[in-house]
Amino acid sequence: MIPYGRQSIDEDDIQAVVKVLRGDWLTQGPAIDELEDLLAATVEARYAVVFANGTAALHAACAAAGLGSGDVLATSSLTFAASAACAHYVGARSTLVDIDPDTLNIDLDLVPDGIDALVAVHYAGLPVDLAALRNRPRVVIEDAAHAIGAQTPDGPVGNCAHSDLTAFSFHPVKTITSGEGGAVTTNDPDLADSLRKFRHHGIERRPEIASWYYEIPEMGVNSRLTDMQAALGSSQLGKLDRFVARRNDIAETYRHELDGLDIRLPPEPADETWRHGRHLFPIRVAERDRVADELRTRGVGTQVHYVPLHRHSAYHDPADGGPERFPHTEAAFAELLSIPMYPALSDDDVTAVISALEASL
Ligand SMILES: *Cc1c(COP(=O)(O)O)cnc(C)c1O
Repeated sequence: MIPYGRQSIDEDDIQAVVKVLRGDWLTQGPAIDELEDLLAATVEARYAVVFANGTAALHAACAAAGLGSGDVLATSSLTFAASAACAHYVGARSTLVDIDPDTLNIDLDLVPDGIDALVAVHYAGLPVDLAALRNRPRVVIEDAAHAIGAQTPDGPVGNCAHSDLTAFSFHPVKTITSGEGGAVTTNDPDLADSLRKFRHHGIERRPEIASWYYEIPEMGVNSRLTDMQAALGSSQLGKLDRFVARRNDIAETYRHELDGLDIRLPPEPADETWRHGRHLFPIRVAERDRVADELRTRGVGTQVHYVPLHRHSAYHDPADGGPERFPHTEAAFAELLSIPMYPALSDDDVTAVISALEASL
């Protein structure tokens, strides 16, 4: 079975982890600083702070930005639960917004006036055009779980050119992995400081009082990454360009070979000043469930990204409006199917996926 996504782990990734295991630090050691420095340099942000996973990274971003009770955070309905859950973890509320059918990203024109925060999800790895955001809310967070390695005309996703904070995930299906893992980048030293404290219980060391003394003015959590994970993350991050290039090559082949079939190909960036991160290759196809089953019998795994958040009672009160409030998300959801997309796919695998799809329509 060819899965829809999987990690690419080489011997040097394994050796990087083994080296940490033979050393002195298993958590909060030098491998953490190395990953943070490398990530900040890679995405051209001043600061990077790593977390146990991408969900924890989004939670910390909301906490560091001071979101809390009474605040409302808007995000796309076509995303993973974590993009909205982060609001609720800090006592705020989320409100869901329909997508732009041309990008499958949040329709920025529908972001309600007067909200406190926006979580802009770069769906499938296609960056949201945040330069076009009018009525900028107090806090803008990019959910770049799909988009590490992507570029906008203003530089790499993660440089926070039009946001306060950018969150990443290093889950194995994402572009680079540390097993579980995540990070937040920012250019604001105070936000970076808050992020660091939040991941470690909110602890502030006060060596001027005593070497061991600390205070906790604001509560935090334990969402630390281990040094084994950080070493894997750094090793993987060194391959980011190659990984994203291979993903884009596979996308090129798909676009070329699937052109003319009775499917809709995923949205593309506006021009060459953008680079797609290609976490997913979500085609749109009629009779999606039948096609998915046919593909499975032919050895090709697929996934649907996502069951829209407005369909989950944890995230949307049906009293606030049914599916008719999200017509473009609903129309996409009926047809979306993510076909295999990851650098470890061989050219033969890509050919097999294409043939299986042709035979399944
Ligand atoms: C994967 C993902 C997350 C959360 O990342 P984890 O590391 O799995 O916690 C958040 N948002 C989006 C859009 C994702 O795809």
